[in-house]
Amino acid sequence: TIVLGIETSCDETAASVVRNGTEILSNVVASQIESHKRFGGVVPEIASRHHVEQMTYVVEEALNQAELSIEEIDAIAVTEGPGLVGALLIGVNAAKAIAFAHSIPLVGVHHIAGHIYANRLLKEMDFPLMSLVVSGGHTELVLMKEHGSFEVIGETRDDAAGEAYDKVARTLGLPYPGGPHIDRLAQEGTPSIKLPRAWLEEGSYDFSFSGLKSSVINTLHNAEQRGEVIDAKDLAASFQESVIDVLVTKTKRAVEEYHAKQLLLAGGVAANKGLRERLQETFGEDKNLELIVPPLSLCTDNAAMIAAAGTILFEQGKRSGYALNANPGLVLQ
Ligand code: ATP
Ligand code: FE
Ligand code: MG
Repeated sequence: TIVLGIETSCDETAASVVRNGTEILSNVVASQIESHKRFGGVVPEIASRHHVEQMTYVVEEALNQAELSIEEIDAIAVTEGPGLVGALLIGVNAAKAIAFAHSIPLVGVHHIAGHIYANRLLKEMDFPLMSLVVSGGHTELVLMKEHGSFEVIGETRDDAAGEAYDKVARTLGLPYPGGPHIDRLAQEGTPSIKLPRAWLEEGSYDFSFSGLKSSVINTLHNAEQRGEVIDAKDLAASFQESVIDVLVTKTKRAVEEYHAKQLLLAGGVAANKGLRERLQETFGEDKNLELIVPPLSLCTDNAAMIAAAGTILFEQGKRSGYALNANPGLVLQ
């Protein structure tokens, strides 16, 4: 099965060709970060305009690099949600147009299913598996007992991990997106500043990062008022320590309770060096659990992951039809 994937949920215009849901033939990503940087975040109207400009080029480039013609594509997989509605619409409409023009089956894909399926481009899935999804908009523990079925056992009640990173970075005067900058600073600092950890109720797999974010901001402001200087590196290290502590502790409990055979890392925050190291330390030696950590290029938004998830859905018989619409509130199930 050869699937063309299309992803436009946020600020990456991406297209990719994947064979059998496991082999990347091409993976083209046009990032808009430079255009949004000066606004300190993604501006939806600008994102949509860029997607329109890049879409055709990105799809043609994906086919060229795969050395395939559109007639050789078995299905088109496109992110239908969640994400920015105007951004999603560009991808969905492009996918529908190509599918209609060439009579190719169309499959709508949940963006987070895509982030999880990025892992299948590295290693075959072995169920039950647990996925720790940490991205700009999501922080979730997702249990999978079989292909194409997702059970969210815990999720953030306020900010996503990536969102907290970006907000803390902004407070420290770092450029957007702030996650990688905090990560870099944290490597150089020591976690010497006391910050809270949101464990929530006993046994809960949910997360909360807004209290931590506020605590970082308060720490900075209080120091400012007292005329003290706080070392940004130590603050970054302390913040990162709190995030990783909660993420990894809850993940460990979840893989044990659900007897997961694999632990998959997914989403843009999976690029975090500190998190990757801690997961390796915690699970790397575990003989009953296989830890899979995708390369950075497959952690952040891309279309190979959408093609990979779409392949499974297509093989399971899912077809979306031309009524497919962008759904910014699409639920993972
Ligand atoms: P979603 O997938 O939930 O719709 P999104 O697609 O915007 O959100 P991604 O592109 O998956 O999110 O990830 C982007 C996020 O990852 C940003 O918040 C960014 O700061 C964060 N991020 C990237 N690299 C790192 C890093 N090294 N450390 C921490 N955070 C990082
Ligand atoms: Fe994403
Ligand atoms: Mg992004």
